[in-house]
Amino acid sequence: MATLARIALPRAVRQLFDYRIPEGMTLTPGQRVRVPLGKQRTLGLVMELDPPDPPDMTLKPVETPLEDWPVLPDDARELLLWAARYYQHPPGECVFAALPPALRRGAPASLPRPTVWLATDADISNLPTQARRQRELLVWLNQHPGQPLTSIKAAGFTREVLKNLEKRGLATERTASEDACTWPDAPSIELNRDQATVLDNLNAPGEGFASHLVFGITGSGKTELYIEFIKQRIAAARDPDRAQVLVLVPEISLTPQTLARFETHFGARIAVWHSALNATERLSTWTRVREGEPLILIGTRSAVLLPYANLVTIVVDEEHDGSYKQMEGFRYSARDLAIYRAWQSGCPVILGSATPSLESWHNARKQRYHLHRLERRAGNATLPRTDLVDVRSRPLSGGLSPPLLEAIDQTLEAGDQALLFINRRGFSPVVMCFECGAPIECPHCDARLTYHRYDNCLRCHHCGHQQAVPRTCPECGKEGLNAVGQGTEKTESVLAERFPETPVIRIDRDSTRRRGRLDELLAPVRRGEPCILVGTQMLAKGHDFPGVTLAGILDADGGLFSSDFRGPEHLAQLVIQVSGRAGRGERGGRVLIQTCQSGHPLLTQLCTGDYPSVADTLLQEREEAGLPPASFMTALRAEAPTMADSLALLDDLARRAEASPAPVSVLGPFPAIIARKANRHRAQILFQSQDRPALHRLTNQLCRYLEQNRPAGGVRWAVDVDPQSL
Ligand code: ADP
Ligand code: ZN
Repeated sequence: MATLARIALPRAVRQLFDYRIPEGMTLTPGQRVRVPLGKQRTLGLVMELDPPDPPDMTLKPVETPLEDWPVLPDDARELLLWAARYYQHPPGECVFAALPPALRRGAPASLPRPTVWLATDADISNLPTQARRQRELLVWLNQHPGQPLTSIKAAGFTREVLKNLEKRGLATERTASEDACTWPDAPSIELNRDQATVLDNLNAPGEGFASHLVFGITGSGKTELYIEFIKQRIAAARDPDRAQVLVLVPEISLTPQTLARFETHFGARIAVWHSALNATERLSTWTRVREGEPLILIGTRSAVLLPYANLVTIVVDEEHDGSYKQMEGFRYSARDLAIYRAWQSGCPVILGSATPSLESWHNARKQRYHLHRLERRAGNATLPRTDLVDVRSRPLSGGLSPPLLEAIDQTLEAGDQALLFINRRGFSPVVMCFECGAPIECPHCDARLTYHRYDNCLRCHHCGHQQAVPRTCPECGKEGLNAVGQGTEKTESVLAERFPETPVIRIDRDSTRRRGRLDELLAPVRRGEPCILVGTQMLAKGHDFPGVTLAGILDADGGLFSSDFRGPEHLAQLVIQVSGRAGRGERGGRVLIQTCQSGHPLLTQLCTGDYPSVADTLLQEREEAGLPPASFMTALRAEAPTMADSLALLDDLARRAEASPAPVSVLGPFPAIIARKANRHRAQILFQSQDRPALHRLTNQLCRYLEQNRPAGGVRWAVDVDPQSL
């Protein structure tokens, strides 16, 4: 009988807590328990029993277990402890971040199994001809057998229609796992030669862990390749009827379109995981995963933390995407944890992208990953032609140069669609007084307010502050206020004026706030109706618009001169991804990039569309500068009511780091790019080294030091291992 339990508690300290197990109580690692903590009680999760290094003190007893089976199995706990060490984050917070909210709050973990709906074989003549919706739902149920009510509703049917079908005996409800215990037998699409070669090579290492990078240009058929690979891995699994697959996708590309392609092949075995799920949906999907139900989980970042029972493969689509890195709290990289998870499960992992991150490109170059290439578009589509438009001393209206406007004209005349990318939402990024020259700034941040015309207000994109537009300049009192520069709204309105016959569709965070709105907006685009799309980053990701033959990038120069060393990499990825939206159909396409730097070597190289050589060049520059991925980096950030307090804390860390013999260079401390945000003054310090263990040890010492010497009130700090943005 174990007498001592080492327990993870949801507290911001870098340690586990020991408790005595009262006589007569049996515990299993992975179980949730209720324990006393100070004068309170809290929920905890048992990580280990009778550890080899028990503390020499009297311990409080565990009060009660919440269930008699492990909520988190061994490998899920091991992954989280590894991640807590690697990302230097309090282990209890990591463990609780991996539980669905209901379980974090102490709700019971055994829940009624989720139910799904199926069409029956009953005679359809029972259905009166006027019951049109019921007939449509019946067709839908036959196409999508075994879907839960939420999916049926999402497809546009009401509960009432479903219940009526049930009354007629035409539909029936089942618990998810009694449902068909075989994988649907959908016909495979015939892969082209390149895809077939890559598929063979992906299978070449045979069973066990292997990491692959698939560099495949946009439209080269990566998704079809993943689907075939997944089918083969499931078929080859020891127990196909328990096989689980994880497909990670960036937040934005989890569209019904992507889902539909997987559903065609895997039917009801598809489960989804993303930020829009409610607590009940989360618990239900979490339970299916934990119970080892055979499924393909398509999910965003945190899906990597779920307690899989039997993973047979992992795919990370658009692996370069920034949304895989959690930027708050437990700052993990889902892509990097996916590699660890695959290693743990002894299964292959595929990272795929048309624009691999320099980290992954570097790993492929060092032969840590098997590199595979798909360099031709599937079907008949060709790659678009890319040109630079020098906008120096050219009149721009709404950020659009005459050559770009002309190209839009031609595109619309041909009955095609145009897509314009702009990196700022809102109407105007600056509202300035033409009398005294003062811009209107956020009262809480070192940032200018953006004018949003649709609700006529000024907003801070950093803290959310919002105010009415003043009539007179707050500095000089004159009526000289004017909106200058352009955001998506301004470009939208200039286009609407210039092309009154053509719908202009704006896609940005403001226009797509409501769930399902993005798909509504994109529906006419998918139907191929003539239109002009204007949008931010959201447009660059994963969409397939066969009717778009022109893509324009309104301003490429921000990325060339970014203060973040990843600026040029992100610009290159953006240009190639935006270009990938043009000419996916059979009509070919064109890309125009507006810049004041038409002689810049990076832009000229980008015009060739040859991402591998761009990546090689950028990688070489990083190596020469000793920057990641040629070295490792950790950031420590501080924020406080005054900049002096933030800097004092980091100065202390800098001195300690410099005094240590570790081969680590210290950069900073320096104020953050937006130094004041929501009235907090922010600064950071970077540690960089070729020696990852040494960097890791130093970071760990500094975190422990800060934990033991808690900074004075109001000063907060955080550590970011492998930071993705500075
Ligand atoms: P990617 O994910 O690389 O951007 P997709 O998998 O979306 O590429 O494929 C692009 C288009 O080509 C899709 O419309 C897809 O259905 C089609 N496609 C992919 N592979 C094939 C193939 N082997 N035969 C015919 N069409 C294909
Ligand atoms: Zn602000």
